[in-house]
Amino acid sequence: MKALIPGLAAVLAGLAACQEAPAAIRRAARAASPIPTPARVAPGLVPLDCDSPGALQPVRRGYCVRLRHYVTRPAREALETAAARVAAQFPGSRILFMEASWPRGERPMPPHLSHGDGREIDLALFWTDLEGRPLARLPNPSGYHAYEPPRREAERVCVGQRSLLNDAPDPPRTRRWKLDEARTTAMVRAFVADPRVRRVFIEPHLKARLGLAHESKVRFAGCSAARHDDHIHVDFY
Ligand SMILES: [Zn+2]
Repeated sequence: MKALIPGLAAVLAGLAACQEAPAAIRRAARAASPIPTPARVAPGLVPLDCDSPGALQPVRRGYCVRLRHYVTRPAREALETAAARVAAQFPGSRILFMEASWPRGERPMPPHLSHGDGREIDLALFWTDLEGRPLARLPNPSGYHAYEPPRREAERVCVGQRSLLNDAPDPPRTRRWKLDEARTTAMVRAFVADPRVRRVFIEPHLKARLGLAHESKVRFAGCSAARHDDHIHVDFY
């Protein structure tokens, strides 16, 4: 029985990224990996819905099983609002989340420099295949480390300055996916428009490429932080 669980989790990781898993599989996953009830939840924090078939879902259920899916109530409302806006523009789209905060409500939450108090979350970018069709699953099942490289080397920042933890090579040039610029831009703009959102971290080359140069909430996290051309980080007030 134990050997079945990792295999099932892998299947669901792929399914969660793109399509609704059959109800029987979803039920099996919930039974195999129940989300623990924390002994204590810091005041003001609430969990994101990890089993919703709606417009806001975890990249994979493991983030919830590890209790990294807590946010403040206004942050949850802002996330649900943004997800609904993107889905209204691009029917069937889902904002996929990775790490948010743990229930103890303390910053930082390793390995992050921040996170932990319910006001931060990492979200997957949107991707297509080379023909422009939405990908059936994320390039990397974790949601992290599938970087969208700068188009010109001159746009690359922090060369030789980031830690090994925060840096990694670009994916191979032969990769079969590319950034979904329209949906990613729509997602960032949905957050920028929300007064509950303080800032959105993205790499400078993507800020320029997505036409966000004049958006003051869209920021560069700096060279001591992780690359933000594989995901965005959203800070809430
Ligand atoms: Zn983050």
